[in-house]
Amino acid sequence: MKKSLYLNNIQLKAELDRCLGCSSKPCKIACPIKCDPHYFIKKAKENNFKEAATSIYQQNPLGKICGLVCPEHLCMKACIRGKIDFPINIPKVQATIIEKANIKDPIKSTNKIHSQAHIAIIGAGPAGISAAITFAQHGISSTLFEAEPNIGGAINLIPEDRLPKQVIKEEFSYFSNAELIHILTHKKITNPQALLKKGFSHIIITTGEDKPHLLNIMGEEFCIPYQDYLKSPKTYSHFNKIAIIGGGNVAADCALTAKKLGTKEIDIFIRRRSCDMRLSPHQQLELIQEEISINPLCSPVEILQDKNKFSLRVILNKVTESTFKSNPNETHLYTNFDAVIRATGAKSSIQKYDENIFYAGDCKNGSSSVVEALSDGKQVALKIIKSLLK
Ligand code: SF4
Repeated sequence: MKKSLYLNNIQLKAELDRCLGCSSKPCKIACPIKCDPHYFIKKAKENNFKEAATSIYQQNPLGKICGLVCPEHLCMKACIRGKIDFPINIPKVQATIIEKANIKDPIKSTNKIHSQAHIAIIGAGPAGISAAITFAQHGISSTLFEAEPNIGGAINLIPEDRLPKQVIKEEFSYFSNAELIHILTHKKITNPQALLKKGFSHIIITTGEDKPHLLNIMGEEFCIPYQDYLKSPKTYSHFNKIAIIGGGNVAADCALTAKKLGTKEIDIFIRRRSCDMRLSPHQQLELIQEEISINPLCSPVEILQDKNKFSLRVILNKVTESTFKSNPNETHLYTNFDAVIRATGAKSSIQKYDENIFYAGDCKNGSSSVVEALSDGKQVALKIIKSLLK
């Protein structure tokens, strides 16, 4: 059954009515970008969806995207209602409010300052976008340099059924033509320092995790990187049986995307136990419901190709009192795959931090959610703005 992205009127009313209106606002405190569910739920209850949505956008320029993709361990984990029965589905309420409000031009200027500063932002993922919008709201111009053909970074890898491309297009349209935000795509910057000589006053690097975690095994060249798979999944819709190496979010996204594309057999291989997978309860349940097979305690050591088919040789690990042991002689060969997807995540390629350059988002903090990267981009921009006021 196709899941709805938004709540219907009855579901929305039920969620709004369940909110206790806690004066201590734990939901706001837990939100990385300080959206205020207590307030926007109150306004939605009063049928004032425009004000509710405006308050969300005041804090979060990608309010609908975050409503659709925010993880459960932030505001929902803090929600007091969870101590009584189950938490308010705050992200889904947020996305539904914005959908209903239908406001055009939601991103407003805040306190404009007089400054000749022009900021170079390298990387147009969530942290870079958020920094550029924060500068524009304060009357400061910036240029976003993006190596890829499109802005959005890791947002573009989120599967369509969780985050439709139309929603990305809609929210990006609110800022992509803004006078103070210049966007240059297909523009890889190899020497950030050189931008200072070209007249930029500050540089922020927000290039995310751009370097794949390699398996360093024989036959690795046969793998499809998860970024390629998730960027254009339809290219791979002819596969009947696939192996996915990795046990995190991107592995789950690849598996669920493959299922929706019609791939019949999907095998996930993880080094540790299933209970060690870094997934939300919701994601774990989805993998079970979609009949995705998880092969725990398997360390891949070799990928073999035979015409159009691939085999995966793994070492079978053993766990004793939470320590993992592997015996290189205990191996098993899984065969007959149409493809092997490497979904072991990525890391930042930045080796050394430069004192004259600011960093934000996943390249600085490691892998995080969209809202955490947005928040960090905003914080770094505000720090620069503060320094301009001195
Ligand atoms: S913590 Fe939960 S119940 Fe309390 S105000 Fe926030 S959303 Fe409502």
